[in-house]
Amino acid sequence: MLDPILIDTATFTREQQQRGGQLQLQALDRRVWSHELLAQRDGIIQYKVSGGIDRWQRSFIDISIEGELQLVCQRCLQAVSWALNDQSHIVLFASEQLLDEAMAADESLEGAVWSAEYNLTALLEDQILMAIPFAPRHEDCDHTLAPQTNQDSGNPFARLAGLKSGH
Ligand SMILES: [Zn+2]
Repeated sequence: MLDPILIDTATFTREQQQRGGQLQLQALDRRVWSHELLAQRDGIIQYKVSGGIDRWQRSFIDISIEGELQLVCQRCLQAVSWALNDQSHIVLFASEQLLDEAMAADESLEGAVWSAEYNLTALLEDQILMAIPFAPRHEDCDHTLAPQTNQDSGNPFARLAGLKSGH
């Protein structure tokens, strides 16, 4: 497990600080590398995180992640390379209520409730999980599924239908 990379939110955003580096996928939290759509646990994520304050005096954190991951193609169930490339602009709000109001007014807004300190690793993990596509597949998937064995009895519902139509 990685040590948490903690940032002091007020200082980080006010001073427009930046952090960057790379992380091994398997060094991240289990919820990331055990994701059911990941074909392999190894992979390297490059990240860049920066803070700032926008023209409405709202603090924000920008997160950029990049990497090449192996996902499970949902058509053939074999590995498919996937280029992770995700940028997020997360605006921080003082309360849940303010966050809800802002998000209702602007559907494209990404927001979070202000915390005096953030664990950068956890933020990156969240972004990776949100970026993984719902149903990855080869662009032009022509792999066929391995035939299923031990299923000589066929589909029970088909047999049931057969019985019905026989009378
Ligand atoms: Zn495929």
